Amino acid sequence: MKSLNLNIRDFFFSSDCIFCSEKSQGKYRYLCHKCYGKLERKRSLRNVGNFYYIFDYDKDIKKMIGFFKLQNRRYISQIFGDLTGKYLKEIIKFEEVDIVVPVPISIKRKRERGFNQVEDILEYLKIPYKSIKRVKNTRPMHQLLNEELRKENIKNSFESSLEVQGKTILVIDDIVTTGSTVRELIKILKSCGEPKKILVFSLAAAKTAVNNRVSF
Ligand SMILES: [Zn+2]
Repeated sequence: MKSLNLNIRDFFFSSDCIFCSEKSQGKYRYLCHKCYGKLERKRSLRNVGNFYYIFDYDKDIKKMIGFFKLQNRRYISQIFGDLTGKYLKEIIKFEEVDIVVPVPISIKRKRERGFNQVEDILEYLKIPYKSIKRVKNTRPMHQLLNEELRKENIKNSFESSLEVQGKTILVIDDIVTTGSTVRELIKILKSCGEPKKILVFSLAAAKTAVNNRVSF
C-alpha cells in the first residue's frame, strides 16, 4: 500500500522547477538545468577567519532552503550536495579536519520534519560526521531579533561527550546569521576538552554575517 501511495504522489505532484516553473527534466527534481546553472555561477568559496561559506543568503537560496526545510523534500540535499561538496571536501583535506559536526536542529523541528538537512547533505556526500544532541527546546532564532535574546534562547541547549582533545573540528550549518547557535555549539565542544582548531562552514551566510565579518 505504501508504494502505491508514493506512486500516486509522484503522479499528482508536479516536479516543475521551483524558480522558473519549466519542466525539470534534467538530473534534479524541482530544478531545471538552466536554474541549476544560475546557482552554480553564484557559488564561490569565501572565507573570513575560521568561517567558510559558499552562497550569500539571497532570495534564491532562501527559496531553496525554505523549500527544503518546510516541504520535507529530502532530495534537495542532492542539489546542495552537488553545489557545495567539492569545496567542503577541499576544506576537510586542506585543513586536515578530524571531526565534522553538523549543527543539530531543534527537538521540535526534528519531530516535525524528521531529519536534519545538513546531515542529509553529508550523507549524500559520504562525509562521515558526529552528531551532537540538542537537549533543550528553543524558539526559532529568526523570531528573536535581539542578539541577547538569541544567546539566552540557545544557551545550554547542546550536550556532547565528543572526544575533541587535539582535534581539528569542522562545524557545519546551513545558514549563519548572527552566529549565536554556532558559538554556543563551539562553547560546548570546548567544554569537552581542548580542540586544536575549530572551523565553521555554512552553505550560506546572511547579510548580517557578511557585513559584520562574522567569524568564530
Ligand atoms: Zn528553472
